[in-house]
Amino acid sequence: MGERVHAARDECQHVRDGFGRSIEYLRISVTDRCNFRCVYCMPERGLDWIPRDDILTASEIHDVVSQLAPLGLSRIRITGGEPTLRRDVCDVISRINSVDGVTDIALSTNGVRLEAMASELRSAGVARVNISVDSLRPDRIAAIARRDLKLDPVRVIRAAIDAGFAPVKINTVVVRGVNDDEVAAIARLTLDFPVHVRFIELMPVGDMSDSGLDHIVPSEEVLALASDALGTLVADIGPALGNGPARYYRAPGAAGTIGVITPMTHTYCASCNRVRLTANGHLRTCLFGDHEVDLRTPLRVGQPLAPLVAQALEDKPREHSLLQLRTGGLRALSQTGG
Ligand code: SAM
Ligand code: SF4
Repeated sequence: MGERVHAARDECQHVRDGFGRSIEYLRISVTDRCNFRCVYCMPERGLDWIPRDDILTASEIHDVVSQLAPLGLSRIRITGGEPTLRRDVCDVISRINSVDGVTDIALSTNGVRLEAMASELRSAGVARVNISVDSLRPDRIAAIARRDLKLDPVRVIRAAIDAGFAPVKINTVVVRGVNDDEVAAIARLTLDFPVHVRFIELMPVGDMSDSGLDHIVPSEEVLALASDALGTLVADIGPALGNGPARYYRAPGAAGTIGVITPMTHTYCASCNRVRLTANGHLRTCLFGDHEVDLRTPLRVGQPLAPLVAQALEDKPREHSLLQLRTGGLRALSQTGG
């Protein structure tokens, strides 16, 4: 990546950061609460929740998006914590959907409430969903989530497809010794369903910040496991409107694709196109590190946000520091809107 350049708009009216990267994708965490306690994401107990008064209201989220969309932050992902736990999540989404310039709204979910809420979410404006599926085995799902909520991932996937979400993506964090023996079974979902399974390399944060490095399964290994089971994988352009860092492949005759997301073995920071809004209204320009600007306080006193955002983008780091960090202290993704 080149030298720092002054934050500017590109020809598509997306703001550029200090390294010239076009920033168009805003991930909004609408809650830090979750009905799961995934081993790689949240501690089982003892997490400090954001005080209720600090959580942005639906109207405040609308106001932030209204001020950021004109900068070219036009693609939105609703995430958390578990976004479907927020009681007014559909109101939040329909308000975002009403903002001029917003072109796409996606949602990340663990799937527990998706079946029940699918049509309401579609009507509010969610076009696409990412569903986290770390296992197809009920006992293992409960063990990874540290909650037994009787989740049936295949049923949730069917419901998402039937509700008209497109594309439907599946996120699987591969953890050595925990679910790496299910790579083939999860990849096989792409034979029958037009879904895009993305295997994510474990990032050693939160409770796993110390032990996590031993549990990372490099994407090359995952792709080899998938091709041993499904046949030679061919590179594929992947789902339309892909905003992200996944590389996609297709198994012979498959309806869907297999992707890998490689934060640990191949960083994709050079093409990073995103920023994150935390549930308490802080703009994070990098998933890891302290690059965070409070937008809630200025928003609540009526100060314009655009100059603060422009400065934050100017200061967006060149790359994440995860590989250099070997000890705890990094915030879990549930807190940053991973
Ligand atoms: N609760 C929703 C879900 O699980 O999809 C949305 C929030 S969750 C933080 C977003 C994504 O981050 C999920 O796909 C999850 O698997 C992933 N994630 C969380 N912690 C991770 C870690 N330590 N390494 C890699 N991915 C992680
Ligand atoms: Fe909750 Fe998602 Fe984190 Fe699992 S990954 S604990 S479902 S926020």
